[in-house]
Amino acid sequence: MSFKDLGLSDALLKAVEEKGYTTPSPIQQKAIPHILQGKDMLASAQTGTGKTAGFTLPVLQILSETKHPKYRPLRALVLTPTRELAAQVHENVQEYSKYLDIRSAVVFGGVKAASQIRTLRQGVDVLVATPGRLLDLHDQKAVSFKRIDILILDEADRMLDMGFVRDINKLISFMPTKRQNLMFSATFSKDIKKLAAGILRNPVSVEAAPQNTTAERVVQKVYRVDKGKKTNLVIDLIKEGSWSQVLMFTRTKHGANKLTENLVKAGITAAAIHGNKNQGARTKALANFKSNAIRVLVATDIAARGLDIPLLPHVINFELPNVPEDYVHRIGRTGRAGAAGEAISLVCSEETEYQKEIEKLLKEKLKTDTIEGYEPLDKTPPKRAATQSKGSFGNKKKTASQGNKPKRKSRFKGGKPENTSGRGRTGGSKKKR
Ligand code: AMP
Repeated sequence: MSFKDLGLSDALLKAVEEKGYTTPSPIQQKAIPHILQGKDMLASAQTGTGKTAGFTLPVLQILSETKHPKYRPLRALVLTPTRELAAQVHENVQEYSKYLDIRSAVVFGGVKAASQIRTLRQGVDVLVATPGRLLDLHDQKAVSFKRIDILILDEADRMLDMGFVRDINKLISFMPTKRQNLMFSATFSKDIKKLAAGILRNPVSVEAAPQNTTAERVVQKVYRVDKGKKTNLVIDLIKEGSWSQVLMFTRTKHGANKLTENLVKAGITAAAIHGNKNQGARTKALANFKSNAIRVLVATDIAARGLDIPLLPHVINFELPNVPEDYVHRIGRTGRAGAAGEAISLVCSEETEYQKEIEKLLKEKLKTDTIEGYEPLDKTPPKRAATQSKGSFGNKKKTASQGNKPKRKSRFKGGKPENTSGRGRTGGSKKKR
């Protein structure tokens, strides 16, 4: 199947061709015809599947086929959880609409609102936005939603995790009830289904990959290692493997900073990207990573959401996420655009329970090994798991250091995780406006 077979206009086909795409990805093949027919959609697709073009292309086509009033009211709105994803989606919108008479803009928090207000006042057809800032701008009457025809919720699961559900519902309350709604999500919790039920009308469901499964071509490995030895192990892996582009995940902002510092001390160029970094620093770190000016990007889950790094060969979970779905998102960063990748998780004794939860979600056991010279001495399972079956991850040796029993006070041991999934927290409303 070609892009032409999907019924896209010549202007869009030309833009797609210039991007170098020859064949539509599975999600594009499935989603585009339905969207062009004006249907609501619930799509299961994670980053790396080509979902952005999957909704952007048909939306642009619909907009270009309908006449807009002279003052260019906002007709299509894309909501994303993070600034990075918003910027990236907007970049796509600009590229695909280059041969169309379509105006687009992006708004997100962390930067001054004045220029965003000026742009909105000039009129835009398509707006990409994070919910918090958009609500602020709406409160300031910088934008109206009265003429919105199409609403797209991108990475809806992450928007819920980040506590945006109220903002989203509020934004929707200002929109006309008759509109087309598209919702994209990598995972489908009860809450997501509830949000979908409230927004979508008779949606078609499309799936790019089976729900909650990891990309097929990602080789996943777990290395058991003591917490205190993770940094040295990771330095060895990077140096010995001569890895040039590695994305690493930590649970906390502090952990990301510390790891970055240690990597730099070891002569490995690295930068951290997390919620405490300002937009300029985040953009710079990402650009340096993409251009190979730095070898390692250390990220927390929230910051990493929506990063578009094509053909990323290595993802390392320096720490496992405490929310199993985040594992799926993290490793969705590798093996992208059809290329194989490797996702390595360093798991210390405190994290064995996280691993179990991830395996439960994936419905598969992760291949678990040790590396010579880094065999864990501390194999004491976390307190709560102590009564459960031992050695379920292939650790047959007896516990060597009973005296060094880790206390597992909370799931957030070692600092507050940056992700705010609502698990173990109330409210979970850490919004970035
Ligand atoms: P996305 O899942 O939208 O973040 O896209 C993931 C990556 O795939 C991006 O780098 C896109 O530019 C790229 N991409 C999207 N559609 C195609 C396609 N049909 N063929 C090849 N690459 C694509």
